[in-house]
Amino acid sequence: MTLDTLPARSVSNSLPFDTLAAQPADALLSLIALYRADDRPQKIDLGVGVFRDDAGDTPVMHAVKAAEAALLKTQVTKSYLGAEGDAAYTALLEGIVFGDPTAGERLNGVQTPGGTGALRLGAELLARANREAQVWIGTPTWPNHAPIFAEAGLSTRSHRFHDAASGHIDFDAMLYDLAAARAGDILLLHGCCHNPTGSDFTPEQWQAVADLCAARGLIPFVDLAYQGLGDGLAEDAAATRMIFDALPTALLAYSCDKNFGLYRERVGALWALSANSAIAERVRSNMLSLARSLWSMPPDHGAAIVRTILENDALRADWRDELDAMRARLNGLRAALAATHPRLSAIADQRGMFAMLPLTPEAVAALREEHGIYMAGNGRINIAGLRADTVPVFAQALRPHLEALNGNA
Ligand code: PMP
Repeated sequence: MTLDTLPARSVSNSLPFDTLAAQPADALLSLIALYRADDRPQKIDLGVGVFRDDAGDTPVMHAVKAAEAALLKTQVTKSYLGAEGDAAYTALLEGIVFGDPTAGERLNGVQTPGGTGALRLGAELLARANREAQVWIGTPTWPNHAPIFAEAGLSTRSHRFHDAASGHIDFDAMLYDLAAARAGDILLLHGCCHNPTGSDFTPEQWQAVADLCAARGLIPFVDLAYQGLGDGLAEDAAATRMIFDALPTALLAYSCDKNFGLYRERVGALWALSANSAIAERVRSNMLSLARSLWSMPPDHGAAIVRTILENDALRADWRDELDAMRARLNGLRAALAATHPRLSAIADQRGMFAMLPLTPEAVAALREEHGIYMAGNGRINIAGLRADTVPVFAQALRPHLEALNGNA
């Protein structure tokens, strides 16, 4: 008798799964399926959040290919590294993220499976330190943020930060909502290239955020998933560096999956800043013990690629050049789209891969059905899904929906 032929009813321990409620499918994955099934040749995919070049591809970066070739030749073992992953990778990346770090022994970094793993490890660490802490998350945000903290056992609160109609930050609304935050609460911040709005704080607003955290005892948790895709590597890390300089305690979840184009390799890191080196040592031991139970050790290949690139001057320069070109493409498309309608002007000032268009769900559906233009239901578009020649096509399809907003204003 095989397992397949066992009558289901004779299995007496089947009850636990009966209690599970079905979960909603990922909305963006459903959108991919719809896009694939659409046979109109002029269809435009602005849904999925990956970089695309002018041909619509998400290519492997040159430096990544070269690093993979080098690894194939030189790697002599795949034996375990340990819960912290590749320490040389984390140390080299620390230079890219923090410049010349001044925090020294107060700063702990470990490799993680992507930015998601970094956020989850940070959430577990914070939950272990203080179960009562609430995590404040600006809306809208990356849809995975709240579930990551909630699954780690922390309660989440949302605060306003963005005015959808103008596409600009509403800093007063954010400060108003954060008046309800308690000492020890966590404030989640997008380090640059906000997903989904593209709206980042000005340096003055960042300073006010740091002052607020200091005055109210809030712990900033920066999520930096797009360094180099906004204004430049150093520019995009400036806010993170300022926060880490200004406060005794802070966390940073980092992803290399966009700026090295390594998505499926799952490359990230978590840094935690502690008030002094004795606390930092305890923090490190907790980061490692949590990582051990979550994934034992992070996947090596992607981090080994990033290490190989960063330790070789020629590969590093090649990577930076290609990243510069990716950023120039995004910012060029932003300027072109913003110029097509006054309602879109904020897009030129925003940064990164995404923008939120002021569209109703009906307008989003109409664009899909009538023009084969695919975007997330909330009006988020991936700027990299456009091309110089499709910007005017997209703008023309958008125009009646933007004019309708004017009529309603
Ligand atoms: N944070 C933000 C804001 C993101 O947009 C993403 C990826 N979409 C992540 C974190 C997670 O990145 P990763 O794919 O490296 O897990």
